[in-house]
Amino acid sequence: MASSQHLRAAVRDIPDFPQPGILFKDITPVLADGKLFHDSITLLCASAGDLTIDKVVGIDARGFIFAAAVADRLGIGFVPVRKAGKLPWKTRGLAYSLEYGENVIELHEDSVQPGENILLVDDLLATGGTAAAAAQLIQSLGAKLVGASFFIELTDLKGREKMPDVPIHAILSY
Ligand code: AMP
Repeated sequence: MASSQHLRAAVRDIPDFPQPGILFKDITPVLADGKLFHDSITLLCASAGDLTIDKVVGIDARGFIFAAAVADRLGIGFVPVRKAGKLPWKTRGLAYSLEYGENVIELHEDSVQPGENILLVDDLLATGGTAAAAAQLIQSLGAKLVGASFFIELTDLKGREKMPDVPIHAILSY
């Protein structure tokens, strides 16, 4: 089960959402199909290869869906990076720009420990602003970002160039 073509066929393109000019990649048909969702998580786990990973960090909100399932499959913990004001404990935050608009993300200060190996997971890599900000937060707490895995990468936006030191994998590239 190395192919991802059946997953590609299920991703739905929504033009001009959430604003004109954005071609939104709707992954909900993948999630709604048990086999497609299962295969997505298998491929995301495989993309981490032989890395030793202590925790999976997922990005608010669609990233949670993939990241939590990957963490469970790997038998390790899941940590949420959330939009500002959502996490109840002591947080560290960072502002960044994304393909459409601006955002602030936060991480609980005690959610990753110095020296821990972290895999970052999100649904989609576009400009890389979100992932790079999450990477910075993780690293600022002393943890090691050993890889970043995405269900989709929009290659024209060159997001991976924002994280030159992190091995990046995507299941589907457009
Ligand atoms: P970026 O920071 O530009 O890499 O944007 C990545 C984040 O924005 C991801 O968490 C995605 O969920 C979301 N996103 C950006 N562009 C798209 C798109 N064309 N389709 C779906 N989600 C997107």
